[in-house]
Amino acid sequence: MAQQAETRIQVDGEDVIVLRSARRTRTVSADMVNGTLRLRAPLRLSRREVEKHARAFRQRLQSRQSAASSSDAALLERAQELSRRYFGAALNPSSVAWSTRQLKRWGSTSSASQEIRLSARLRQMPSWVVDAVLVHELAHLIEPGHGPRFQELVGRYPRTAEADAFLAGVTWAEQQGSSQPDL
Ligand SMILES: [Zn+2]
Repeated sequence: MAQQAETRIQVDGEDVIVLRSARRTRTVSADMVNGTLRLRAPLRLSRREVEKHARAFRQRLQSRQSAASSSDAALLERAQELSRRYFGAALNPSSVAWSTRQLKRWGSTSSASQEIRLSARLRQMPSWVVDAVLVHELAHLIEPGHGPRFQELVGRYPRTAEADAFLAGVTWAEQQGSSQPDL
């Protein structure tokens, strides 16, 4: 007998991944995978119960996200901290903010206005990945191109290469996901 089965269902018009496990007896837990809610549930939980849990978790995650979205100030503070650590405090972006309109790129920097925007898609990713994107955008305040000088700057953050690979993996998975039929 299969220990685990993964299915994709629709709850209120949105995809939910349901990972059923024979080893779970009662508890249901949830996380987000590339923006999709994933529930871990006992093998025998009814569809109606699964939907109820999906709605409850989605609501909880949304309220947690709106708390985090008020934190452009926290993001600016983080950028200043990284700037101090890797660039000797020389950089002072005028603003650092999450952007929900920026979906294709992870981040952008305006050298004229010294504004940094990060894609809101990064919010649910590990903080060291967000830090790497911040370091990348901060480095653009010094060097607009991606040449050797820029590589030296972003190389000061020890997980730059790892974060690049992580984000490339996310992009790859999303492209796979959109080209595969729903099961
Ligand atoms: Zn760049």
